[in-house]
Amino acid sequence: MKVMKFGGSSVATPARIQSVIEIIKPYLLDEVAVVFSAFGGVTDALIQISKLALEGDLDYKTRIAELEKRHLDTVRELINIQRQSSILAQVKFMMNELEDVLHGVYLVKERTPRTLDYVMSFGERLSAYIISEALKDRGLVAEFLDARKVIRTDNHFGYAKVDFETTNKLIKEYCKHHPDVQIITGFVATSESGETTTLGRSGSDYTAAIFAGALNATDLEIWTDVDGMMTADPRKVKKAFTVPEMSYEEAMELSHFGAKVIFPATMQPAMVNRIPIWIKNTFNPTFKGTLIHSQSTNGKMIKGISSMSGVSLLSLQGSGLLGVVGASMRLFATLARENVNVILISQASSEHSICFAVETPLAMKAKAAIEKEFIYEIRNEEIDEVQSENDLCIVAVVGDGMKHSPGTSGRMFSALGKNGVNVMAIAQGSSERNISAVIPQVDAAKALNALHEAFFLSDRRVLNVFLVGTGLIGKALLTMIQDQFTKLAKDNLLEVNVIAIANSRKMLFREEGLALGTCVNELNSEGEEMSMLEFYQRMHTLNLSNSVFVDCTSSAEVTAFYESILGTNISIVTPNKKANSSSMEAYDLLKSTAFKRGARFLYETNVGAGLPVINTMNDLLLSGDSVIRIEAVLSGTLNFIFSSFEEGRKFSEVVKEAKAKGYTEPDPRDDLNGMDVARKILILSRETGLSMELSDIKVENLVPESCRGEMSVEEFFKSMEKFDGEFEKLRKAAADRNEKLRYMAILDNGTVTIRLGSVSQSHPFYSLSGSDNIILLTTARYHDRPMVIRGPGAGADVTAAGVFADIIRIGNYSR
Ligand code: ADP
Ligand code: ASP
Ligand code: MG
Repeated sequence: MKVMKFGGSSVATPARIQSVIEIIKPYLLDEVAVVFSAFGGVTDALIQISKLALEGDLDYKTRIAELEKRHLDTVRELINIQRQSSILAQVKFMMNELEDVLHGVYLVKERTPRTLDYVMSFGERLSAYIISEALKDRGLVAEFLDARKVIRTDNHFGYAKVDFETTNKLIKEYCKHHPDVQIITGFVATSESGETTTLGRSGSDYTAAIFAGALNATDLEIWTDVDGMMTADPRKVKKAFTVPEMSYEEAMELSHFGAKVIFPATMQPAMVNRIPIWIKNTFNPTFKGTLIHSQSTNGKMIKGISSMSGVSLLSLQGSGLLGVVGASMRLFATLARENVNVILISQASSEHSICFAVETPLAMKAKAAIEKEFIYEIRNEEIDEVQSENDLCIVAVVGDGMKHSPGTSGRMFSALGKNGVNVMAIAQGSSERNISAVIPQVDAAKALNALHEAFFLSDRRVLNVFLVGTGLIGKALLTMIQDQFTKLAKDNLLEVNVIAIANSRKMLFREEGLALGTCVNELNSEGEEMSMLEFYQRMHTLNLSNSVFVDCTSSAEVTAFYESILGTNISIVTPNKKANSSSMEAYDLLKSTAFKRGARFLYETNVGAGLPVINTMNDLLLSGDSVIRIEAVLSGTLNFIFSSFEEGRKFSEVVKEAKAKGYTEPDPRDDLNGMDVARKILILSRETGLSMELSDIKVENLVPESCRGEMSVEEFFKSMEKFDGEFEKLRKAAADRNEKLRYMAILDNGTVTIRLGSVSQSHPFYSLSGSDNIILLTTARYHDRPMVIRGPGAGADVTAAGVFADIIRIGNYSR
């Protein structure tokens, strides 16, 4: 004998019911019993309608009419026209009965749990009846069974307790005399006094298990709308996957903490009788699904992660609790008396406080009852008033395997911590089969995804990128991410999703990830108006795990948000020098915020574009080396100018050529004044540990004084010509000594100078050509011969490559 159960989602539409009929057809010749839930959404609708009636809102009538129409339409679609009329009449008859009850609720303005159970029972009674008729209509042998005939409970309406002795007897007896396949109403039962009760929301799973137990079934199949019991709720964690097998205990813990796919109580009758439970997908019937049985196999420490929302945390604390035997007994006895179900308990070993979680609607009642119980202690100030916090949820990791493997909680809390999720209470089941944490509801999705990644995809990472700046570098970066996506995912198990992009005018968000090939066009056509504040808030509210903010602008308006961004545990990657070259205080603050939050702040491309300067230096320092001297050519533009400035050429002409080639800033004076070089060497100096301001740096400004004021670029070139002679004099003097002019930055003994100097043939700067940069690092270890880092120090492509490398570094770091 096999018992099958189809949930509301499996029978939400006539088409779906038709697929369900196809699934059960082959079994109808064997011994099988089939349990049905109400059509998807009907139970919720019934509760809603009765609430309207209770509130005196006549709209309840319209809603009944809609519900009636939905059921009548289903009959019309599924059943042959010749047989329809008696079935339609029966459905109408039941709907009239429902309307009468609701009219009563409307008149007396009272909806007792007893009435509500009766109202809810119509959902399953209608669905199982209609489906049994649809089966008969197809010539299949089936019989409708209203489970109220055979399941006996107490009269705890809304959550009735089953009397198994009587129920088992009644079911066996009934089935003995009804050999045909039974089509059974889920969820509903009858109390000893003959009133309709229900088994609790989602109780149809339980009905099926009760039948399976009573009939000693070989299998219990729970058919739903997902591929079995998964590692997490697939609606919340896109990367969740099916768990092929788990133990009853594991399934029970997972469903207790919100894995709705199976109702926790279901496990009991199946477990007692050792009946294997299969979770199967109506929409993918050939898929094997999940087997829940006595053993737990596979070596994984964790089987799944679940979450439960709508939780409040209450805490009782005060010196009065210290060492007082019986305080917790009084506390929990009070809660039991008030019918408040405690979801989780955690007590500090100091015994100074006990905190516990309950469903939010019960929090006020619980608080009042406890304060009443401890009224004397509260008056005597031995115990404080009960603290209550709402808008929380519980996340739980579950698995038999954690018992034997230390480190589960370490992994759990480090994943939560790295993503800035504040844990408010922790409990570990004594079975060591689950660890649960109470966290803010707003962080639920982020926490689930971060935990899922930490436990199931420990080698796979998803980075969620938010890019501001779609100029040359930003665009090159998007192309690079697009080109490398597949390879990264395959070889590095790293998935880089770009969630948002923005330029100074517009911004575009797509939570599921932007199409990289077209997103810049889309930004221009569909983007919303950009505001950095709004961008930051959206990014923060999305609250995705492993978020990275990438700033490819040179704007100080953007860097003004860095501290807030790092403060919300979002990492930053940027070539923008504005933040790190502002005040030392601001630089320190960013570093310490990132450190405190476990977020990363990477800016390799602040100096030398994609050349590995900052990371190399940090690696040296981390491994105990110290920097003695830095000598560097840090401006690609100025190096181009001085390496092109040869005999026979005028200096102003060379500058003009550099501008024409697009190597200079729009106003070349922004290169010639040396400030860009100053910012770069300032950042390098700070990285070595020096506390330094931009104003501490001596910069030789190559713009002659008379060319500095307000003037157009043309006027500037014109007045520069007057100085060609002077530059030629410098060049010639150097050439006569067999030397070349170079604009260099030198950090020595804690001071920085930037000047135009000349270098001899033996100097590494001598042969530097084009727009290359070079950095010589003399350190305690690289003492006799400095370390040389040399290569292209400007250009969108190399800079974007450096930014990309930093992004990937974050992916690897979060593993
Ligand atoms: P039914 O209508 O068949 O009773 P439910 O809606 O009660 O279906 O349960 C199925 C839903 O449970 C899925 O659609 C899924 O969103 C949710 N769910 C929550 N946690 C899990 C999990 N760990 N594995 C599978 N589904 C889950
Ligand atoms: N129809 C009931 C509910 O929605 C029972 C069930 O679907 O399992 O709670
Ligand atoms: Mg269900």
